[in-house]
Amino acid sequence: MAAVTVVDHPLIQHKLSLMRDVRTGSGEFRRLLAEIGALLAFEVTRDLPLTTRRIDTPLTAMDAPVLAGKKLCLISILRAGNGLLDGFLHVIPGARVGHVGLYRDPVTLAAIEYYCRLPPAIGERPAIVLDPMLATGHSAIAALDRIKQRGARSLRFVSLLAAPEGIASLQQAHADVPIYTTSIDSHLNDHGYIVPGLGDAGDRLFGTQ
Ligand code: URA
Repeated sequence: MAAVTVVDHPLIQHKLSLMRDVRTGSGEFRRLLAEIGALLAFEVTRDLPLTTRRIDTPLTAMDAPVLAGKKLCLISILRAGNGLLDGFLHVIPGARVGHVGLYRDPVTLAAIEYYCRLPPAIGERPAIVLDPMLATGHSAIAALDRIKQRGARSLRFVSLLAAPEGIASLQQAHADVPIYTTSIDSHLNDHGYIVPGLGDAGDRLFGTQ
């Protein structure tokens, strides 16, 4: 079963509470999500392998630690994933970026794909899949299915909030993909929204409704 890591750093929890507040407007919501994304990036990439490169400091030569292998890949599940992506890119500016476009059928809540563009050599890169809301798990499962079809082998899934139902479904479908989140909320309501949650992440991020 894939591990679930709840990143409960006080700075993250404080920012998350500000995001949940219904009075927080789009500009601040976007800024907070990017800040949390940057903080999450540290935890999610903690075990990336290092190698060394010979460099000269002003004083001497040394074998300095650098990331091993090909550049990692960040994959945003559109459209709310872009809010987390901004923060991750702030910390890992050299990452390659992919996008998977999915929308939820309002009746069945099934995930329907309308876009998929991934960087080359995806099978040789660690890939971090970003979607702020792990609700039913349908979008996450469909996105990971597609990304694996395209050859990705080393995957991590990052959400801001997760519902217990979404975690269970994702673990069942993709037992090899570790999950990172900042909170496991109570449950899903009848419309598939996370409770207490923060509402529709895409709408709050982009000021749409
Ligand atoms: N997607 C959202 O944006 N919010 C939820 O609560 C669930 C899915």
